Amino acid sequence: MLRGEEGLHSVDPGGIEIFSSDLHSFRDALTAENRTLKRALTDPRIISGIGNAYSDEILHAAQLSPITLTKKLKPEEWERLFAATRDSLELWINRLRAETENSFPEKVTAFRKEMAVHGRYGQPCPRCGEKIQRIRYADNETNYCARCQTGGKLLADRSLSRLLQSDWPRTMDELEALKRR
Ligand SMILES: [Zn+2]
Repeated sequence: MLRGEEGLHSVDPGGIEIFSSDLHSFRDALTAENRTLKRALTDPRIISGIGNAYSDEILHAAQLSPITLTKKLKPEEWERLFAATRDSLELWINRLRAETENSFPEKVTAFRKEMAVHGRYGQPCPRCGEKIQRIRYADNETNYCARCQTGGKLLADRSLSRLLQSDWPRTMDELEALKRR
């Protein structure tokens, strides 16, 4: 087992760094393979440093469905996704920094109470007030707002299950395995 910061650097899986990327390199990285947005954003070989929780927050901010395929995104949606990715991560970096300056850092967990959708199944969407939905898979779930992100559609039909089987980060172990390649 690799531990600590040294360990993290020594298994760099090769994804792009969002803060040193422009819209073009972001788009190129995410369309190298035709993936669902959820999968592309959480794949460390594609983009670095975005986990399950932040990908939910980014997609909600961009008002995009987690199951949209990257090759189907329109130019204006790319702009929204790129801006939302940078803005969301910047917001969280600043929040975490402000907290650790004032007090001993608490254990950083995936769920944070200030999050808009992640970990908030059944609670009202901060943008529209509709109840937050979820897609459950293995030991994890993705949260989204149907009104803001999927044109009101609930993502739970058979074709979705098929899609998820082939293109979804089913478990956190699976994502960890990608990092080790
Ligand atoms: Zn909403």
